[in-house]
Amino acid sequence: MNNPILQCRQLTQIYRVGASEVIALQGLDLSVVQGEMVGVIGLSGSGKSTLLRVLSGLLQPSGGTVRFDDLQLGSATPRALDRYRRDDVGFVWQSTAENLLPTVSAEMNVKLILDLYGADNSAERANELLCRVGLAERGRHVMSELSGGEQQRVALAMALANNPRLLLADEPTGALDAESSAGLFALMRQIQREDGLTQIIVSHDDELARHVDRVIRIRDGRVSSENRWDDETGREIGEALVIDTIGRLQLTNEQRAALGGTDRVTAEVENGAVTIRPANNGGSP
Ligand code: ADP
Ligand code: MG
Repeated sequence: MNNPILQCRQLTQIYRVGASEVIALQGLDLSVVQGEMVGVIGLSGSGKSTLLRVLSGLLQPSGGTVRFDDLQLGSATPRALDRYRRDDVGFVWQSTAENLLPTVSAEMNVKLILDLYGADNSAERANELLCRVGLAERGRHVMSELSGGEQQRVALAMALANNPRLLLADEPTGALDAESSAGLFALMRQIQREDGLTQIIVSHDDELARHVDRVIRIRDGRVSSENRWDDETGREIGEALVIDTIGRLQLTNEQRAALGGTDRVTAEVENGAVTIRPANNGGSP
């Protein structure tokens, strides 16, 4: 793999709620190369949003490291982190209400963000961005006059306003129907192809898998498996379980059932393969 632009090692995040603890991330490793589009798919509660909050520099994790290019987020000064969020990261959230001002036009929403970044010719650039997301004709409409899919395209235009080097999207199609979802993912793919923009898109929707270079599946705050596609043929190369930097891997429920539900196994190395069998003394006490 080329030198990754983004690298997370052994991320853990523990939320304390009163006297109890919720482990949202438990030793998550992730490397992303420049220009790659990665889909993160996992059930609700698997730690997806927490991961994106950490990657965006909004949340300092309980443990582990994140590096973007040559910036170590964990040891960066507050100023460097601000700069990272302002200059390097674009973010699309799930609900349009979080992304947009409802009572002003699409054009004005994008222009306001550009003004915030101190961009020249913000009105003109707002129109260019709306063009890029296929909304050239809809810029004058206020948000409530746009469909959910169109609203998320405006959100995408806004996320692109700072010319980010990393685009993060948290369930951007969570409130959309199947057709608009596929449309938004396809648009993000097109932007990746045109600009080589590195993207990490989180979803619980398997549709995402059809639009990205690589899908990682997270379970219980950890990467459990990964799928890749061949660039030329578009064919799936296959699913691989991911062994993390400290040697752990996760079995699927099916695989665990095949072991008879035991939590003690033996691992035997033979001819370059490891065979896992229920241990003789196995099983929960
Ligand atoms: P996902 O986005 O995959 O649904 P989250 O990252 O939102 O997962 O949450 C992972 C786990 O952490 C869940 O059990 C969730 O309830 C818990 N969690 C998330 N945010 C907080 C928080 N601010 N305080 C306490 N627990 C949280
Ligand atoms: Mg979430």
